[in-house]
Amino acid sequence: MTAIPIMPIPGHVDPVPVPREVTPRADGRVDLIGLPRPRIAELFAEAGLDAKAAKLRAKQVFHWLYHRGVTDFDAMTDIAKTMRPWLAERFVIGRPEIVAAQVSSDGTRKWLLQTADGHDFEMVFIPDADRGTLCVSSQVGCTLNCRFCHTGTMRLVRNLTPGEIVGQVMLARDALGEWPKGSMAGLEEDEDERTYTSDGRLLTNIVMMGMGEPLYNFDNVRDALKLVMDGDGLALSKRRITLSTSGVVPMMERCGEEIGVNLAVSLHAVTKDVRDEIVPINRKFGLDQLLQACSDYPGASNARRITFEYVMLKDKNDSDDDARELVRLIRQYKLPAKVNLIPFNPWPGAPYECSTPERIKRFAEIVFEAGISAPVRTPRGRDIDAACGQLKTAAHKMSRAELDRLADEKQAALG
Ligand code: SAH
Ligand code: SF4
Repeated sequence: MTAIPIMPIPGHVDPVPVPREVTPRADGRVDLIGLPRPRIAELFAEAGLDAKAAKLRAKQVFHWLYHRGVTDFDAMTDIAKTMRPWLAERFVIGRPEIVAAQVSSDGTRKWLLQTADGHDFEMVFIPDADRGTLCVSSQVGCTLNCRFCHTGTMRLVRNLTPGEIVGQVMLARDALGEWPKGSMAGLEEDEDERTYTSDGRLLTNIVMMGMGEPLYNFDNVRDALKLVMDGDGLALSKRRITLSTSGVVPMMERCGEEIGVNLAVSLHAVTKDVRDEIVPINRKFGLDQLLQACSDYPGASNARRITFEYVMLKDKNDSDDDARELVRLIRQYKLPAKVNLIPFNPWPGAPYECSTPERIKRFAEIVFEAGISAPVRTPRGRDIDAACGQLKTAAHKMSRAELDRLADEKQAALG
């Protein structure tokens, strides 16, 4: 199998250091979810089909996997009956396992998921009147250690594979009952697909804002999002996908060029001192470098603005001066920007408090009066720990002393 190289990860040695395209299974079968179409054809050829048949079968299977969401080869009605057991002996159509599912009083849903090799991670669905957003994880844990983020108190366990990332979207479609029904019988190449796709979907948007730093798992995130955007795959527009980074500057250009989705940047502070403290990657890639990379981001324009996320921390980053400095920086770098003000979501042992509602309102006014959109985000799913920054899998809970030691370790590794 061709190995997909992954970004070297700063900080910890990944305890599962071998890059791989799929999580190996005990029964030796290969999970097709997450593999690009040509790779599926290659596997079919390796298993004995001639090149032409392999290509055709790969096209048919791909369509069933991503367009119809089937999880059983037997449901693939345009594939010969005798061929289906041949496929089932060699391949599986995987989904991350659901360990637990919770629903918030505001309708937000959170799923605790598990990889085939037993690692827990989370995914969140946030329904709104006009849209539904799936918050997808890219890693189990995070190498970074933003001081206000619960995920940051976890070690990085490992990167998620493309299959585990796109698998979250598939699982959400399963759970929301959003695979097209109807029949594909007789469907020709160029036939109108509306005859069997479902309109009025609940899941309309994807944000790479779950656990982990997506730009430290660039290749897998890119490959997964390509399947999400593929017209013959999940067919979601890149305009409906947003990737959030804490500021991995060297990967931002490739993100714009190779993935082309909307960019959100976890800014959270406008001075070196404060950002160094709360978003420690700032010590490696400073504000100037970060804002320059934003200004160079391929595809950013007034029609497709960069979102700056700004968590409101009481007496830390929430003064009038901070708001004015934010405006000044956005102007200095001529950024097509909007600002999302996120009230801090608490978690046990967090070293910060949320700013007061009056403070948040004043901060928002200053930015807004400068002509920059600055909505205050309503926290969603706080009662089930599903809100921004609250994701953390219970299997990895640590004591306060362990947390402090981990923080030191991570910061030393950042250098
Ligand atoms: N690792 C990526 C994406 C995941 S975090 C990143 O940092 O951008 C998604 C957003 O939630 C980020 O902007 C993050 O800074 C923010 N966040 C983290 N902890 C939070 C908390 N406790 N309250 C509010 N927002 C938080
Ligand atoms: Fe990691 Fe993002 Fe949390 Fe920072 S805010 S610790 S980068 S998940």
